[in-house]
Amino acid sequence: MLDVAICKGLVINTKRQTKRITNIGIKAGEIVCVTGDDLTASVVIDAQGLIVSPGFIDVHGHVDGYLYSGELSACQGITTSIGGNCGLSPLDFDDFFNCQERDGFYINQGELVGHSFSLRQAAGIANPYRRALPCEFEKMKYMARAALDAGACGISFGLDYSPGASYDEITALASICADFDRVMPIHTRLFTQNDLYSLFEVLSIAKRTGVKLLFSHFVYQYGSGIMGDALEIIEKAIHDGLDIKIDSGMYMDWLTFIGTATFDEQTINDNEIRFSDMIAASGPYKGQRLNLELYRLMRKNYPNDSVICCVPNDASQIYAALKPDYAMPSTDIGQYLPGEGHPQIAGSFPKYIKEMVQERHDLTLEAAIYKATLLPAQTFHLAKKGQIEVGMDADLTIFNLSTIKDTAVFPDQGFPDNKPEGIEYVLVNGVPVVVQGAFTGKKPGRVLRA
Ligand SMILES: [Zn+2]
Repeated sequence: MLDVAICKGLVINTKRQTKRITNIGIKAGEIVCVTGDDLTASVVIDAQGLIVSPGFIDVHGHVDGYLYSGELSACQGITTSIGGNCGLSPLDFDDFFNCQERDGFYINQGELVGHSFSLRQAAGIANPYRRALPCEFEKMKYMARAALDAGACGISFGLDYSPGASYDEITALASICADFDRVMPIHTRLFTQNDLYSLFEVLSIAKRTGVKLLFSHFVYQYGSGIMGDALEIIEKAIHDGLDIKIDSGMYMDWLTFIGTATFDEQTINDNEIRFSDMIAASGPYKGQRLNLELYRLMRKNYPNDSVICCVPNDASQIYAALKPDYAMPSTDIGQYLPGEGHPQIAGSFPKYIKEMVQERHDLTLEAAIYKATLLPAQTFHLAKKGQIEVGMDADLTIFNLSTIKDTAVFPDQGFPDNKPEGIEYVLVNGVPVVVQGAFTGKKPGRVLRA
C-alpha cells in the first residue's frame, strides 16, 4: 500500500525538460512509481489540471532553523533551503544539525558556514574594517574545515559586510572550500553601484583555487543598469573554464541590517542613496521612510534592525539576471517575525513563475522549473532531489499555473508576509506541509549534511 498517490497531474521531467500527465506513488518518503496505471494509497491527491513539479530549492536563504521563515518558504513551494548565506551562519554544525533533527522542521535545510560575520567574529575580529592577524587567519581556516567536516555545504561570503577582508583571506578559505569540492556563494564587495571590479576580484580567486562559485542575489548587486555587462563578464569566465552559477530574486529593492558597513554614511554618499529612499523594515520604525536624523538614531540604537533600500526600478534587470542557463531563482529570505521584512520572504517563487513563464514568456515552464529544482540540486550535489523519478526523495510542489500569484508587498504598502495563491500542495519527504493551499504545520524536513 502506498502512503500517497498523486493522480492525473501534469508532471514535469526536469532532466529532459518535458511534461506529461501521469501518476506518482510515494512510500516512506520516496517516489516508488511514476505510472499511467491507477494507484491506490492512504492519501490520494487529485492533481487534475495542476502542475506537479519537484519541490523548489532555494539556494539563497537565511532560514537557519527559524520556524516562521520555514513556513513562508514552504508556502511558496520551497522544499529545500540553503541557509548560512552572506557570511552569516551557525558555527557549531553538529549542534545546529542535531537541534534541527531533534525539534523537526517544515522543510529540508542545507547549511553553509559564513565568513564575514560568523568566522570573523569567532576568530576575534569584532571590527569588520580590520585586517585579520595571522593567528586569526589560522583560526578561521580551522573552524571552516571543522564546519565542512561536519557537513556544511560550502563557505559563504558577504564581502560588503567585512571591508577588512583581504584578498589573501578570501583566497585561503576558497582553497579549503575547493579541497572539499563544496560551493562558495559570494555576496560581492561593492564600493559603488556600478562596481564591476567586484566580479573580477572573485573570478581571480576562483582561477587560482578552482573553487565553484555562486554569485549571490545578482540583481541586488548588479541591477543598477549594468546587468548586461556583469553577465558578459560571467559568461566569458564560464567560457574560460570556471565553474560559476548565479542566483537572483524577483525584486529590485534590497534589504539588510542598518548597522552593517553597507549602510555606512560614506557608502551611502558614494552610492548617491537618499535617506528618503530607505524604509525601516523591522523594529519600532517599521514602514517609515528614513531621514538623516532617523538614520543616525537607528544606526546607533537599532543596528540589528533591517532597512530596505529602494533603487530606481528597472524590472528588465530582474528578468535579464534570471534568463541565463546558469542562473537560479532565490529569495534571500531572512529570519523574520510576522509582519516584518520584505516581500521576497513570501512572494519570490510564485512571482518568478507568474511573470517569467505566464506573462512574459521569458522561459518555458519546463526551463523555469529546471532552474528552480534540478539545477540547484546539481549545484549542491543533492543527488536525490530535483527530479520526479523512482528512487528520488518525495519533495513535490503542486500548483495551478493559471492562478499562481504572489500577494506580498513592501512594508509601507501592506504585509510582506502575505502568502501566495495557486500553490495547492507541497510535500516534503512524502509528507504534505501544504494541503489545498493551507499550511499543515507538519515537520518532515531533514537536514542535508554535505
Ligand atoms: Zn547578501
